[in-house]
Amino acid sequence: MFDLILVADWSAAAVPTGAAPRKDAIWICAEEGGVETTEYFRTRAAALEWIDRQLDRGLCTLLTFDFAMGFPAGLAAHLTGRAEALALWEWLAEQIEDGPDNANNRFAVGQAINRSLPGTGPFWGRPAHLDLPDLPPTRAVVDHPLTATRRAVERLAPTAKPVWQLAYAGTVGSQSLLGCAALARLRQRPDLAVWPQETGFVRPEARIVLAEIYPSLWPPAPAAIRDEGQVVTTARALRAAPAEWFSAPAVHPDATRLAVEEGWILGIGPDGPYPAPPAPRVASDCFALPPGVTWTPVETALATLRAASDVVTGIERVDVSEATGRILAEDIAARRANPPEANAAVDGWGFAYGTLSGGHVPIVEGRAAAGQSYPGVVPPAHAIRILTGAALPAGVDTVALQEDAEAGDDGLSLAAMPKAGANTRAAGEDVRVGGPVLAQGTILRPGDVGFAIAAGHGTLQVRTRLRVGVLSTGDEIVAPGAEGGIPDVNRPMLLAMLAGWGFAAVDLGHAPDDAETLAAMLDGAATDAILTSGGASAGDEDHLSRLLRTRGSLHHWRIAVKPGRPLALGLWQGVPVFGLPGNPVAAFTCAAWFARPALLQMAGAGWREPVGLMVPAAFAKRKKAGRRELLRARLRDGAAEVFRSEGSGLVSGLSWAEGFVDLPDEAARVEAGDPVRYVSFAELGIG
Ligand code: AMP
Ligand code: MG
Repeated sequence: MFDLILVADWSAAAVPTGAAPRKDAIWICAEEGGVETTEYFRTRAAALEWIDRQLDRGLCTLLTFDFAMGFPAGLAAHLTGRAEALALWEWLAEQIEDGPDNANNRFAVGQAINRSLPGTGPFWGRPAHLDLPDLPPTRAVVDHPLTATRRAVERLAPTAKPVWQLAYAGTVGSQSLLGCAALARLRQRPDLAVWPQETGFVRPEARIVLAEIYPSLWPPAPAAIRDEGQVVTTARALRAAPAEWFSAPAVHPDATRLAVEEGWILGIGPDGPYPAPPAPRVASDCFALPPGVTWTPVETALATLRAASDVVTGIERVDVSEATGRILAEDIAARRANPPEANAAVDGWGFAYGTLSGGHVPIVEGRAAAGQSYPGVVPPAHAIRILTGAALPAGVDTVALQEDAEAGDDGLSLAAMPKAGANTRAAGEDVRVGGPVLAQGTILRPGDVGFAIAAGHGTLQVRTRLRVGVLSTGDEIVAPGAEGGIPDVNRPMLLAMLAGWGFAAVDLGHAPDDAETLAAMLDGAATDAILTSGGASAGDEDHLSRLLRTRGSLHHWRIAVKPGRPLALGLWQGVPVFGLPGNPVAAFTCAAWFARPALLQMAGAGWREPVGLMVPAAFAKRKKAGRRELLRARLRDGAAEVFRSEGSGLVSGLSWAEGFVDLPDEAARVEAGDPVRYVSFAELGIG
């Protein structure tokens, strides 16, 4: 029902809370497509600004706060003449001053309300030093004649603190005074409805639904700071909540009046709190990132991909001559020794080292050559003509280089005596029978194939090729070379990258921005994985995201990397879909750094990460902390130079570059000559 669920744990702090995240401050959890991310805010103003931006994204949003969005019956009518919580919000918006630095007048407003009523209270609780005689520092009255202590819904949630209390631990009253005033302004959005004050106890239709929640209803998720864990739990509960949560309180005898005058807590039914619904735990969660991270570090994203990608390919036997680039499916051992027999490494003269005493050595008839072994035995103190690769005849253990010997009528004279065993190769010195040759998962290079052949293999069991489909999306995309529009850079580029990685790259064509066509194309893919480009963000025209979310599964990963846009990962009928950004530079980068390792693991090659090289920088740069930066780069004169612009729109940079400079998550100040990590395109399997 909702694309985005926001759960805010509000705060009435009078000064900005600490720069480092802490408890009793504003925490907001954003749940989107099964991924929870949390944000910490130092001021209400900052939080409201962030919320506004979220609401501007055009998503169907459930926006919730943890303070009472109404007061016990009686107060609204007394202050505004209307028994409506929303009228009280307007009234508070007029009275409350709440600065960008959190400075506010909530205690004075509490006192003013008390003064307008007979007797003591109902508001109480304030710092002792404040001179507010009509706001008692401690609880002064049990039940005020005008209003009850608690709202009807609070009587169903016994641990809820009464809103009349404005200070001391766990209090919510101050948050309600400040919060309702802020909500009065938020409510001015035309596409927002307040449940149930405005909608009644029905499942709302508006694009943005504002509702009250009470995180303490459910045990918090594990998190360093309890408040953070609580907003995560609540967001999960709301995501899994049945629609009845909106409508069930309607059976309360006084439901219509209560909805308007006091409001209600989403998650409390007519008889009390609902247990947190079990989170759906299905395979579609495999791309879920750990909760509690706003921007996912590259390493976390890679670890999640690693855990989520299983081998899906089969096994086939191929001729060694066809095996280069394939993934070996078995550990192989030597079927024969290499070399099979001791042999001569050079052309020269063979003899038994221990039997020579210098001078002229008699030469035996015949010779030993590769493939033509000498059948006899060479007698002691005799030499035989021997050529490279020839098996050493019986009686020979050493070979003198042809250049170091002279053959005459009276035999062989040696200019210098070689060392014992010189110029020979021992049997099995490369590999012995049964010795290890290559390990399963090896992506076979020409050298590997050579070794397998030397070790006696004529065929190898390899993984069937992983079939990876590529689809471009977007109404603006036209075929390469066509007039108008934006040429489809991504599809041919990604197909070429996939082929280079040894996969069977399947062209799935170009999909318009139309959900049904796109769905039909995904249905027809018949591949092991799909790479798409474009339409992967969370906007209105982002059909891929929408489709996966509604009919498949989707996780939007906000990866802390530049160049970066959200990477959408999901399953379509069990097939992993990598929703790459449309921007070709980002598509290229995300494919190389995120899709490639996952696809290689699916293909059976295991998890591989590129090995970098530390080289001096030929550039200077500062970067801030909190995200990895992958700069298009190349090596010149032993140093890494970077492309003239980091703008991710410049496709020319992909052609210019030969690799990436990989700057770490931390802040960095690089000066020319400083060591930086360089990862070549070759290392990423890009030719
Ligand atoms: P999108 O992610 O769909 O919002 O696209 C982001 C940008 O990338 C837009 O400027 C698109 O026109 C562009 N784009 C999307 N797909 C491709 C493609 N296949 N080739 C080149 N540019 C693309
Ligand atoms: Mg698009």
